[in-house]
Amino acid sequence: MSILSQFDPAVAEAIQHETERQEYNLELIASENFVSEAVLEAQGSVMTNKYAEGYPGKRYYGGCHHVDVVENLAIERAKELFGADHANVQPHAGSQANMAVYNAVCQPGDTILGMNLSHGGHLTHGSPVNFSGRFYKVVPYGVSPDTETIDYNEVERLALEHKPKMIVVGASAYPRIIDFPAFRTIADKVGAKVMVDMAHIAGLVAAGVHPNPVPYAEFVTTTTHKTLRGPRGGMILCREEFAKTINSQIFPGIQGGPLMHVIAAKAVAFKEALQPEFKTYQQQIVKNAAKLAECLMAKGFKLTSGGTDNHLMLINFTGTEITGKAAEEALDKAGITVNKNTVPFETRSPFVTSGIRVGTPACTSHGLKENDMEQVAGFIADAVANIGNDEALAGIQKRVNEMMKKFPLYANRLK
Ligand code: PLP
Repeated sequence: MSILSQFDPAVAEAIQHETERQEYNLELIASENFVSEAVLEAQGSVMTNKYAEGYPGKRYYGGCHHVDVVENLAIERAKELFGADHANVQPHAGSQANMAVYNAVCQPGDTILGMNLSHGGHLTHGSPVNFSGRFYKVVPYGVSPDTETIDYNEVERLALEHKPKMIVVGASAYPRIIDFPAFRTIADKVGAKVMVDMAHIAGLVAAGVHPNPVPYAEFVTTTTHKTLRGPRGGMILCREEFAKTINSQIFPGIQGGPLMHVIAAKAVAFKEALQPEFKTYQQQIVKNAAKLAECLMAKGFKLTSGGTDNHLMLINFTGTEITGKAAEEALDKAGITVNKNTVPFETRSPFVTSGIRVGTPACTSHGLKENDMEQVAGFIADAVANIGNDEALAGIQKRVNEMMKKFPLYANRLK
């Protein structure tokens, strides 16, 4: 019996159940992934005990020799992975990474361009319920109604009209390659800085499966826990000239002591991302997404923009009785985890929505390949066809669990 299960059986039991859920359910949330045992070990280490305000070699606390080693490793590996001048690995999350860049470039009231949330953007790209929408004048851009891909002509028109201080590029639910040179060209016409938030695609970028934004943007932010397959956290890459400002905007700007156990785990994840197998893994994510999209469309589902170039797709129920909320709930009962998502030109509320977002990073970490995607699409189609029929959904769940038993991930953590 573990120390945790002896002392706090309630927490130990919840962790055990969550392990089983991650092991046997089909995880298709596009922003989630499963880290390696090495990353888990680093994150669950004594590094959590250490205060280390400041940066390696310049701390406000004694005893930082060993945490300096891991932070330097994380920094150097991040720079190597993405070809960046400077990396700050301290942001506690993607949102903090973005906030630090905004604070470095903009004053409250300044104008920024950011992708519309319902067209695929993130809350921190200018939503009124987020700090970004409260502190800045936000001009949203989006996709064209015809192609449902980013309307670069419209981005240029908006930039020329509003002269933003910064253009925020990147998305949480955009299934296509983003044209970074096009954004750079537009920004240069109006003297704007470019911040690319590559949170979703960072793993693809690291492996060369998606173009790298670093040469085209003053600032690149990311989370470390999505396709990049590291611990939950954030990171900022920037050009050397902004290194000092970015560091001071994170600490002391908006954060206190860095989470050194998480930074240790980031270092491990970045080492993993530098291995040749990581490229194969990222290629497999994209192949799986392409195959799943093909199978779903063959079953009559409509996908926003007609498919995917990356790790995710948006099933679009617009024009049908089906809502994202109902589909998410039915899939959950069938052992398949997805999230409801607004679609471009959404007509329903964000709590109901007309879409679901489906991604392949997590199931690819389990080991699923293209030839498993037909079965995955079949499960999705069956579940959506059986919304409200709990007995049928329970039957699908059994089949999903049987399939996932063939793809063990954390087998040694199961009882
Ligand atoms: N940026 C993008 C594009 C995201 O998709 C997300 C998270 O979903 C974030 C930033 C925020 O990351 P976090 O949840 O770590 O604050």
